[in-house]
Amino acid sequence: MNLILLGAPGAGKGTVSKLLVEKKGMVQISTGDILRGAIKEGSDLGKKAEGFMTRGELVPDQLILDIIEEKLSKEKFPNGFILDGFPRTIPQAEGLKKIMSRLSIKINAAVDLIVDENEIVKRLSSRRTCSNSDCQAIYNVFSKPTKKEGICDHCGSPVVQRSDETEDAIKVRLNTYKEKTAPLVDYYKNEGLLKSIDANKGSDKVCESIISTIE
Ligand code: AMP
Repeated sequence: MNLILLGAPGAGKGTVSKLLVEKKGMVQISTGDILRGAIKEGSDLGKKAEGFMTRGELVPDQLILDIIEEKLSKEKFPNGFILDGFPRTIPQAEGLKKIMSRLSIKINAAVDLIVDENEIVKRLSSRRTCSNSDCQAIYNVFSKPTKKEGICDHCGSPVVQRSDETEDAIKVRLNTYKEKTAPLVDYYKNEGLLKSIDANKGSDKVCESIISTIE
C-alpha cells in the first residue's frame, strides 16, 4: 500500500506516519526530515533549502521532485511507503504522477488529515523535536512531554523547538498551506484517490481510522 498523507502543518502527518511504520512495516518518506537532515550535514541541498525553511516558505518544486525521484528509484518498499509532507503543490503532484509512471509504481490513496485551525496553532507552538537528525522524535510540552526535561527519551539528544515553529513562521506556513497545498484535496478527489479523516482525535485513533479506511 503506497499512501500520500495530506493535511495542514500540525495535522499529525509525522506522528501518524511513524505509527503506520510500526504497525504496517511501511517506509516513511518525509521531505521535511530529509531537508532537515541535509541542513544538519551542511550539504548542497541543505544550503539551498535552509532559507526557505526558516522563513516557513516552501522549497522550490524541482528540488523536492529530484529528492523524491532519487529515493523512490533507489530503494525497495515491500510493505509500501507513506509520502509525508509531499506533494505540497499542484506542480509537485503532477511531477509525482510522471515519476510514478516512469517507475511503474502506483499510489493507492491520498489521505487528508482534517484538523481545526485553533488546534493546529496550539499543536505546532507546543511541539518539540529531537535535534538528532537520525531520530527526530516528536514531543509536545502538554500532551507528550519528554521524561527528562529537554532530553529525547529515545536517543538522549537535546529536544528543541524547530525554527519554523515560532508564531511568525507558523502563520506563514498556514497561509502557504491554504494557498498552495489545500488545492491538492480537489486534485486527488478528481484522481479518485482521496480519503478524508477527522484528525482532531489522538494519533492512535487517527492511525486506526486510516487503516480501516484503506484496507
Ligand atoms: P514539514 O516537516 O513537512 O512540516 O516541512 C518543513 C519545511 O520543509 C516546510 O515548511 C518547507 O519549507 C520544507 N518542505 C518540506 N516538504 C516540502 C515540499 N514537499 N515542498 C516544498 N517544501 C517542503
